[in-house]
Amino acid sequence: MIDLRSDTVTKPTAAMRAAMANAEVGDDVYGEDPTINRLEQRAAETVGKEAALFVPTGTMGNTIAIKLHTEHGQEVVCDSRAHLLDWELSMVAWFSGCVIRAIPTEDGILRWSQIRKVVRPLGPHSAPTGCIEIENTHNMAGGRIYPLEVIEEICSGAHDAGLPVHMDGARVFNAAAAMGRPVRDIVAHVDTVMFCLSKALGAPVGSMLAGTAEKIAKGRLYRKRLGGGMRQAGVLAAAGLLALEESPKLLTQDHANARWLASELQKLRGIQIHLSAIETNIVIFDISGTGMSVADISRELRSRGVLINGINDRQMRAVTHYDVDRDACASAVAALREVLSSQ
Ligand SMILES: *Cc1c(COP(=O)(O)O)cnc(C)c1O
Repeated sequence: MIDLRSDTVTKPTAAMRAAMANAEVGDDVYGEDPTINRLEQRAAETVGKEAALFVPTGTMGNTIAIKLHTEHGQEVVCDSRAHLLDWELSMVAWFSGCVIRAIPTEDGILRWSQIRKVVRPLGPHSAPTGCIEIENTHNMAGGRIYPLEVIEEICSGAHDAGLPVHMDGARVFNAAAAMGRPVRDIVAHVDTVMFCLSKALGAPVGSMLAGTAEKIAKGRLYRKRLGGGMRQAGVLAAAGLLALEESPKLLTQDHANARWLASELQKLRGIQIHLSAIETNIVIFDISGTGMSVADISRELRSRGVLINGINDRQMRAVTHYDVDRDACASAVAALREVLSSQ
């Protein structure tokens, strides 16, 4: 199967499996797992924050971050297609007791000029704003990257208003690879950042939440409350360390494959893609001109050994990663060409 549904499907490399087998471990709830401790320290250094916390999922990392930055009854400002809003089972409401103030955007990228208009103080009628959340790269907008000056402007506006900023950086290493900048430059001004080890970086499990030592110490307690206090989790961290150290340099290949895939898909009858929007490893394409439904295309592709899902009734999303090389991308294009010409 050529699996382009997501970069979460990457399997651990042989080196990761060997590192897992040989990992030194201890009880992480006692703070005694040396491999977890090393991963948390390396992650903090890499993103330029005081401390970092290993969490089982990105969803848990975002959930803890929002809890750290808000009180019950506040609003969290994010864009209207944020992962936090659409794909995390309303954890902002469930765990933090907040509502989301969503701002529609073309490209997933918020600007301070838009945020400023919805920031509110506590009043007799309105809930006050608790924090700002930005997603980099933006998943549902097709892997779009936040320009550094936009992040800086949001952070300085938010901080002047007394508001913290959390970055959902599930794929911030993809942003860094595409920009040719270290992740620490991208996240320098945000208060907390979550990133996934388990997507294109290839670890089987895990994400990191980074911020000040004080926030991360408190975050550790929320992790325990959420059931994320793991024990000999060093076996996971061993793969995570390799993901952190070795995988980022591979991401530009995924990006080149995504651009190639997009340019080939664009040649197919009825497929529409904005090539200029392909900045990282996500290709969103519109199939409404093909005369077929998203579900039919998905099913026909599956029967030809290619997995690509729809994200709504017009668009499908293909995500490149190290388990899908250029030849596999070519096979996926050929399969779609066949599906479209057979109907
Ligand atoms: C994948 C993802 C997450 C977290 O996902 P988990 O499946 O919980 O690890 C968060 N934000 C974005 C933008 C994502 O793509």
